[in-house]
Amino acid sequence: MSATWTISAARDALRKGEVSATDLTMSCLAAMDAGDGLNAFVHKTPELALAQARAADARIKGGDAPSLCGIPLGIKDLFCIKDVPTQAASNILRGFKPQYDSTVTTKLFGAGAVCLGKLNMDEFAMGSSNESSCYGPAVNPWKVDARKLTPGGSSGGSAAAVAADLCLGATGTDTGGSIRQPAAFCGITGIKPTYGRVSRYGIIAYASSLDQAGPMTKSVRDAAIMLQAMAGHDPKDSTSADIPVPDFEAALTGDIRGKKIGIPREYRMDGLSSEIAALWDKGADMLRAAGAEVVDISLPHTKYALPTYYIIAPAEASSNLARYDGVRYGHRAALAAGDGITEMYEKTRAEGFGPETQRRIMVGTYVLSAGFYDAYYNRARRVRALIKRDFETAFAAGVDCILAPATPTPAFGLGEQGTTDPVEMYLNDVFTITLNLAGLPGISVPMGLDTQGLPLGLQLIGPAWGEADLLNHAYVLEKSAGFVAKAEKWW
Ligand code: GLN
Repeated sequence: MSATWTISAARDALRKGEVSATDLTMSCLAAMDAGDGLNAFVHKTPELALAQARAADARIKGGDAPSLCGIPLGIKDLFCIKDVPTQAASNILRGFKPQYDSTVTTKLFGAGAVCLGKLNMDEFAMGSSNESSCYGPAVNPWKVDARKLTPGGSSGGSAAAVAADLCLGATGTDTGGSIRQPAAFCGITGIKPTYGRVSRYGIIAYASSLDQAGPMTKSVRDAAIMLQAMAGHDPKDSTSADIPVPDFEAALTGDIRGKKIGIPREYRMDGLSSEIAALWDKGADMLRAAGAEVVDISLPHTKYALPTYYIIAPAEASSNLARYDGVRYGHRAALAAGDGITEMYEKTRAEGFGPETQRRIMVGTYVLSAGFYDAYYNRARRVRALIKRDFETAFAAGVDCILAPATPTPAFGLGEQGTTDPVEMYLNDVFTITLNLAGLPGISVPMGLDTQGLPLGLQLIGPAWGEADLLNHAYVLEKSAGFVAKAEKWW
């Protein structure tokens, strides 16, 4: 039963002794087993979970209960956990067990969290539907008729697991929307922090200048609690910022009187569903009713964000993924007599990487190659600077927060997009990738159901290091929308 709780409700119950961490964990383990049809967990760690839960119970008894003490979480398969299989949902890392922990998981477990297992995702976090996973896709707990829907991607397993109450919260990573888009598709909350807020150490790299980890939760308060435990400077990640971490939960006052909300006119684009457009207006009305001023703003380079991202991200991926060569990690192809090291690399990489990852490696290698570097990569870097400047100009003009759609559409059916044209899949990211390019924080908040009965989210974007204020705006939206619906259980 208690697997359905929010982190904050469980925290209170644990501290009052109304439930034990062990019981709470067992309830999640049972929910996970019953939820196998969602293919959200790709590796379960019940022994680790129960050992951590017992330790949490001892800490609670001893009066030392940190924020996440005894809270069962799911961990995206991109985070290294010592001796726990970590594959980034790729065949090339088959059998890989890290020798060390990521900083995020070290911090979460240090704060008392319980690890339930590893969560499904798109291979190397490349995708928007979880369909590039070597494990097959995770499935959205929300459904229309018999149609199975994508939970979004790349953190699809995380979103599905949280939405279906298999765990209380989960980690995600967001390079171009991978926390916010699946959160919107599954009716949960997901925040992508400012680049540098959360250490990337021990998170398998996709595009290093864009990757950022964040929490995926059932409420804004839970996102604040979990982010608190994940954030902070880490000398092991040279891009992690040595900036104080404010008290995110304390920032949830619900008071946004006098704040200025920007509505970027360029986001009203073709392909945006009319229901989401209407919801966007409704969201602006809610913030206005809470005492904020809503203003029209311009982010003129928005239309270049998608092509810019799909040059920079593959370029960085092609470099990051060069290390998977059959020598050091995971899979190595069987070789024929006479095969040399080149054949070993080629066969291993051809067998180990799925088609989308291979496409990204090829695109990335192409845009970085001598003859094309200036035309593609360098130009994309310059456009990226312009996109960042658009946001800086808006915030410098006094805007506190930007309200935008999270996704152009609600969740779509598995196998329905990107099968003949990958760009169709990439278009899912139009509203989310802009702020990764600018390094800014963004949060997706579930707002309601559409006429088919599928969840829809809205996105709030804040200035760099503005997560506390951003979470407070999200808290106001959450309260005004009052979204409490859960997917009907079919799995
Ligand atoms: N859908 C985007 C991509 O495929 C973003 C993925 C992500 O944020 N990891 O690159």
